Amino acid sequence: MDSYVVSAAVRERLARPQPLLIGGHWCEAADGGVSDIFNPSNGEQLGTAASATRDDCERAIAAARQSFDGGSWTALTPAQRGKILWRVADLLEEYGDEVAELEMLDAGKPFAAVRQGEIPFAADCFRYFAGWCTKIEGSTKQLSTVPGQEFHIYTRREPIGVAALIVPWNGPLVQAAWKVAPALAAGCSCILKPATETPLSSVKLGEILVEAGVPEGVFNLLLGSGASAGQLLAEHPDVDKVSFTGSTDVGKRIIDAARGNLKKVSLELGGKSPVVVFADADIEAAIAGVAQGIFSHAGQVCVAGSRLYVEEPVYEEVVAGVAAIARNMRVGPATAPDMDMGPLISKRHLASVFELVQEGIKSGARLMAGGQQIAEQGGYYMEPTVFADTRHGMRIVEEEIFGPVLAAMPFKSDTDIAALANDNDYGLAASVWTRDISRAHKTAARLKAGILWINCHGIPDAAVPFGGYRQSGWGRENGFESLLQYTELKSVVASL
Ligand code: NAD
Repeated sequence: MDSYVVSAAVRERLARPQPLLIGGHWCEAADGGVSDIFNPSNGEQLGTAASATRDDCERAIAAARQSFDGGSWTALTPAQRGKILWRVADLLEEYGDEVAELEMLDAGKPFAAVRQGEIPFAADCFRYFAGWCTKIEGSTKQLSTVPGQEFHIYTRREPIGVAALIVPWNGPLVQAAWKVAPALAAGCSCILKPATETPLSSVKLGEILVEAGVPEGVFNLLLGSGASAGQLLAEHPDVDKVSFTGSTDVGKRIIDAARGNLKKVSLELGGKSPVVVFADADIEAAIAGVAQGIFSHAGQVCVAGSRLYVEEPVYEEVVAGVAAIARNMRVGPATAPDMDMGPLISKRHLASVFELVQEGIKSGARLMAGGQQIAEQGGYYMEPTVFADTRHGMRIVEEEIFGPVLAAMPFKSDTDIAALANDNDYGLAASVWTRDISRAHKTAARLKAGILWINCHGIPDAAVPFGGYRQSGWGRENGFESLLQYTELKSVVASL
């Protein structure tokens, strides 16, 4: 039984609608409209959030435009900007308990996972990009086309302008950090739009950015629906760049919407990431890694290892091992301290995961664990589910389920495992488990994935670029590469 008592600070926060931040002012939606926010652990309403109108969006874009064109952020020295971003990291840690509670209630993530994982990681992201502020540089060039004349030629990296940052519900704080930190480090002004389901940590992040000293209008927050606020940001001629994380379908809509002013677009989209276990792997470690790779945050992770390929001699052992872990997992409220897996984000999402599991059973896959929804205190729970003997062509093998559902299949040692693993529209992540270092790196080179782990799965870092091949997206998050996507490159050619 979950007996979690919401802290006084969070209760007070939830008593009023979550506000918008426009030009340095916290405000309600222009028409007073709100949307409801629910706790996925028990289905109860947590509170409401302002639902930005068209007018609110126009004002937020105008505020960002004005702050960028007026240079209030870029007038600071790079070191001053870096110091402010570093302060954001300190404040995230200082308010860590409150932020973790918000993320737990809103996104259904266990408190400890957020407090010990996502908060240090988001803080680390701000520190990482704080360090880049003083290191954004151009280079000098030499001219060959005009003999006999002297030139001084150099390139400049300039901030791209106003950036719209649109994030999904599965990692609201971290995904916001992955965009806000490089955008601000590059010198952009920005507008963050979190998912309708999970506005809470974004409001707190906005408060922290203001407290840290980000000038007004440089960071703006719009809450509300993707189809209205998100679409308008993607279409708007005064937005120079949109960075989107979410589903591949919406990603394609963003590309269409961005055509008007050909704004720059980066997209972090879906995945159906393969996990390849060779017979020579440390089998115990591989079994634990496979389970963690698919069941972490109930599979609602873009890099979830949802397709498992196991070399024949160890196939039954590995699948049985993962199924045993699945059967023993404690599934329940994120607010309970002793759960291994929390809820899915919404009733609608649970229904879509369950439908795909039913489809898997009908298509003849061998169900090794799970398969059922769990009725638990009104929350949205799905059993950790393992299918064996799946085949390409089955929907559970082809489609991103975004839930705790693993599709396993054997491969022969002489099979071209790269061809199998690459036989999917996505290309976000992959992992390879083997003790043979040469095989590990050869397979790593052949798999089409933006990030590939060897003998581990799902380890992120602010310094390590991350993103998709093929329909998993355009561009990269994290690393200096991500910061460059918030800049334009200018060449200056001076005749001396
Ligand atoms: P979603 O695409 O429905 O929504 C993502 C965001 O886009 C939300 O803020 C939403 O309000 C907004 N949005 C919706 N319609 C829009 C429109 N027409 N124009 C502009 N914005 C719009 O995705 P979701 O269901 O919230 O998240 C799950 C998806 O996100 C999964 O497919 C998952 O793989 C993907 N994801 C990818 C990564 C990655 O880094 N590659 C990380 C996390 C999640």
